[in-house]
Amino acid sequence: MNTTETIAAISTAMSNSGIGIVRISGDEAIDVAKRIFKPKSSKDLNEQKSHTIHYGNIVDGDEILDEVLLLLMKGPNTYTREDTIEIDCHGGTYVVKKVLELVLKNGARIAEPGEFTKRAFINGRIDLSQAEAVIDVINAENDYALKSAVTQLKGSVSLKIKEARATLLEQIAFIEAALDDPEHYEMEGYGETLAPIIEGIRTDVKKLIDTAEDGRIIKEGIQTVILGKPNVGKSSLLNALLGTDRAIVTDIAGTTRDALEERVKLGDVVLNIIDTAGIRETEDIIEKIGVDKAKDYADDADLIIFVLDSSRDLDEDDEKIIEIIKGKKTIALLNKQDLESRIDLKEIKSRLLCPVLETSVTENKGLDEFTNLVKEMFYKKEIDFNNQVFITNARQKADLVSAESSLSKALESIGLGMPEDFFTIDLMAAYESLSSVIGEAIDDDLADEIFSKFCMGK
Ligand code: GDP
Repeated sequence: MNTTETIAAISTAMSNSGIGIVRISGDEAIDVAKRIFKPKSSKDLNEQKSHTIHYGNIVDGDEILDEVLLLLMKGPNTYTREDTIEIDCHGGTYVVKKVLELVLKNGARIAEPGEFTKRAFINGRIDLSQAEAVIDVINAENDYALKSAVTQLKGSVSLKIKEARATLLEQIAFIEAALDDPEHYEMEGYGETLAPIIEGIRTDVKKLIDTAEDGRIIKEGIQTVILGKPNVGKSSLLNALLGTDRAIVTDIAGTTRDALEERVKLGDVVLNIIDTAGIRETEDIIEKIGVDKAKDYADDADLIIFVLDSSRDLDEDDEKIIEIIKGKKTIALLNKQDLESRIDLKEIKSRLLCPVLETSVTENKGLDEFTNLVKEMFYKKEIDFNNQVFITNARQKADLVSAESSLSKALESIGLGMPEDFFTIDLMAAYESLSSVIGEAIDDDLADEIFSKFCMGK
């Protein structure tokens, strides 16, 4: 990509808001602005200080399009590291579009989606994990997702990875130096020193991998399936969670609705409820889709909501589901509490080994407790934002998994007393995988610096 091309786009939402911003970035940004901006005081933008605001009109020949504030920011202290102009127009999509058109007519081209961020990455302003976090910030659907993306944006993932990489490289450099120069470097018993260091890095990498699941949940919502025999109140529950306005079933006759998902927002928490064909109808999901299919759904789910009818005795349909949910993250709802109860709360609790709540969907009882419990299970307890670093992206996770595997191999070789050059290969592979998480190739400068530390005068 030619990064010197000057790009422009509308950076604010296309609505009739207070102001709209047209952003221009690239070598010619200031020249483009000069062609269309008439400052109130006759100053030359090129001669103005960076990071200053200028008042004037946007003009197309003689025609004044808008009265604006223009922000002048010279590279490299900008988001893209390039010269950047922001034109704060009066709101109104029409005016903002007009200004953009004029900018495009005067030498800029329209930016591709995410191109400003891409440039920030290419020009070294942010690394790949941060660039991905920018996208996440833009797409964040809830407060938790936003916080996580912002943490990543600040570079906390990069920081962890960079620390690990530096430690690895230092070890690799030492081993290489020692192999080169056995007279000056003692390698005897070095494995014993090395093993705990590698183990430490592996633990850190593993922790990051573990956060990937939480990261996914934060970003995409909790994969949820509702299980229960016929008439326990599954569809009533789903409708209650969706809110009354969504209660009308959107039935697409004759189509398989196996994978249909309903997105339910409970405050900050998003549940993606798999609306298995049948949940919406008063038919038995187990009967309709089969025990195996229900098992599959249960296996894939982050959360199972098991609905029981407390006004009826447990029967073999309930037993089937109790088998399916064993060992899975489940919340059981003893529904129809408004009727006379035939299921003992204590007894069912001890059988299910999962939280059990008493609800009455029709009387709207117990649903707040349910929401709070979900939040507690997935956010408050298990995800603590204060100092956690999250991997929110499948690519990063894959790289971390391969780094972890290389580190394990190295540890194995050390354990077996293999020669040193055996494990430097694995350590180097781990280093490369870690580099790929943050989108950096082998860092030559760092490598030079570290190698020079060991190979003085050689
Ligand atoms: P599903 O087959 O599990 O989806 O069950 P439905 O949601 O279709 O509910 C079956 C019947 O139970 C309907 O008549 C609901 O109105 C009723 N029902 C659902 N929840 C409750 C509840 O908490 N109390 C009472 N009394 N009836 C309920």
